[in-house]
Amino acid sequence: MKRNWEALVLRAMGGRTFRLTVRGTESVGGSYQRLHLDDGGLLAECGVHPTMWVRLWFDNEGRSHQRAYTLVDPDAAAGRFSLEFALHDGCAARWASAAQVGDTIEATVQGSAFRLPDPAPRHLYLVGDAASLPAVNSLLDAAADIPATVWVEYAHDGERALPTRDRAGHEINWVPRRDDGRHLVDTVRAALPAGADDAHYWVACEAASTRDLTRHLRRTLGVGRHQLTALGYWSAR
Ligand SMILES: Cc1cc2nc3c(=O)[nH]c(=O)nc-3n(C[C@H](O)[C@H](O)[C@H](O)COP(=O)(O)OP(=O)(O)OC[C@H]3O[C@@H](n4cnc5c(N)ncnc54)[C@H](O)[C@@H]3O)c2cc1C
Repeated sequence: MKRNWEALVLRAMGGRTFRLTVRGTESVGGSYQRLHLDDGGLLAECGVHPTMWVRLWFDNEGRSHQRAYTLVDPDAAAGRFSLEFALHDGCAARWASAAQVGDTIEATVQGSAFRLPDPAPRHLYLVGDAASLPAVNSLLDAAADIPATVWVEYAHDGERALPTRDRAGHEINWVPRRDDGRHLVDTVRAALPAGADDAHYWVACEAASTRDLTRHLRRTLGVGRHQLTALGYWSAR
């Protein structure tokens, strides 16, 4: 596969690349494909943090195609983790659907760096969707004792197949995707209380919705930059 300028830039920025090997595959409700992987030494070298993601390099008719995916249940001692692919018509999703035991793929670690604030926030507000549900779950695991309000947008019922890892004090609100994401933005905006200094906000959904919610949090609610983590996880095209 021909590597492009992205690979060179990432390497210049200190990105480290590993070869992952598929150990097992699992369909989750027909809407997600979960792959179990050997990590090629990735966890031992790079460590792990909640929401940690890697850049996978797919072959798209001879051209390299890089997309981000979130580590699920990383086990550094065993050198293994899983990945959960929300399925849609895309190169990464197609690769995951067809993956077989023994297949390999390269993963570059560069750019993933989330930490829960210290001291711990008194409340977490999380906004995600099918693509960021693995990251939401890793946050709920890491913040098991912190009260959290979560909104998860779903495009169809199958996207509710991935189990959520909520505990007592975590409230999950499922929101159907309507009006190109406008319904999620309106629902979250109407429900969010006034900004509090001891809360943390984490937003990762479709790019335009993420932008709208970020603007609302910063400009309308006055949420401080350090209290907000926001990243568009995919773009509607
Ligand atoms: C930090 C980070 C972590 C991520 N972790 C995960 C993860 O763990 N699991 C996961 O499933 N995704 C995750 N994503 C999202 C994933 O990288 C994107 O969905 C990506 O665009 C998929 O690539 P593709 O080649 O399949 O489709 P693309 O070539 O990017 O797009 C093809 C078509 O599919 C549409 N599309 C792309 N993604 C979606 C989607 N999620 N839902 C509906 N339509 C879509 C596009 O609008 C386009 O029309 C993550 C993204 C980021 C930034």
